[in-house]
Amino acid sequence: MVDSHSKPSAAQALYREIQGITKQPIRKVINTHFHWDHWQGNQAYAAASPNLEIITSERTKDNLTKPDAGVGGLSYVEKQLAAVPKEIEQLKNDIQKASNPEQKARLEANLQQAEAYFEELKQFKPTLPTRTVASSVTLNEQGREIQVLVLGRAHTDGDVFIYLPKEKVVASGDALIDWMPFLSDGYPEEWVQTLAALEKFDFTQIIPGHGEVITKDHLGFFRGFLNDLIAAVKKAAADGASLEEMQAAAEQIVAGGARAVVVKGGHAITKATDVFYDGSRMELLQSEVVATPNTHGTGCTFSAAICAYLARGAELLEAVRRAKTYITGALHHSLTIGQGSGPVGHFWNVTYPTD
Ligand SMILES: [Zn+2]
Repeated sequence: MVDSHSKPSAAQALYREIQGITKQPIRKVINTHFHWDHWQGNQAYAAASPNLEIITSERTKDNLTKPDAGVGGLSYVEKQLAAVPKEIEQLKNDIQKASNPEQKARLEANLQQAEAYFEELKQFKPTLPTRTVASSVTLNEQGREIQVLVLGRAHTDGDVFIYLPKEKVVASGDALIDWMPFLSDGYPEEWVQTLAALEKFDFTQIIPGHGEVITKDHLGFFRGFLNDLIAAVKKAAADGASLEEMQAAAEQIVAGGARAVVVKGGHAITKATDVFYDGSRMELLQSEVVATPNTHGTGCTFSAAICAYLARGAELLEAVRRAKTYITGALHHSLTIGQGSGPVGHFWNVTYPTD
């Protein structure tokens, strides 16, 4: 079984359907990623099959158990327990205000679903994977070859793909769905590469995370779409805000009550330009643009450096100027380590700049 749906009752309903086809037990569940609607039914299969093995990637297991991983896992169950009652209240209010019978009926159906889901959540017994894989493995199940592929980050940092070479079928999780997958826990640029790696396998059909079975050409279509999307977002980011827009934003933020503001990141004007404004001084802070992909931690390092210079007695504008000098150096000395963007290099200059 690939993925186990959003709740035990949904998994049970599907399990009954399966039993109409075969009375064979479900031996293995594979969770493609940590999102709530792909693993919260695990407990139903574990209850039906005492020897059940639940397989996922190491990353996904990690995401299921760590706080704030995104829209899934143990911490997300807690969040839903807090959020669903509020949704229920909201739906009840909306029903009171419904202006026509169709709207009222729709809201009432939603309310019924939300209430039933909340009851299930309260009884929920999180059933985590029992086996993790760090890289691709091949399973042989009663003569059927099933490959569990770990190909890189895509929809999440722990996606697995399930590939049946004989049947030429891939189950893709939400790395591919019938249209546009949720992006917020994703890695768009690596997603493109991961799909390219998947495309090399010999298959014809894709069982996506949501929607009808699709053919392999959807992979190329969606990969092209992601590429276009990335290019468009990069262009918009590079075009950036104009200097006037940055200054207007600074004035607006100070008018709103801030004592001083630094508006960061204007790349419109060849140099990396920040605007400083404290209600009287409107200053432009410029430095060269450092060409590095390793920008992880830029914003928080900049803020921490301002804080540190203030603590050392620098006047506010001077603290901001020095912090900018410091972060520019840290970008020059950034490090290519880990996955994705590497971090800025904090230790390039441990002395207090006096210039
Ligand atoms: Zn998902």
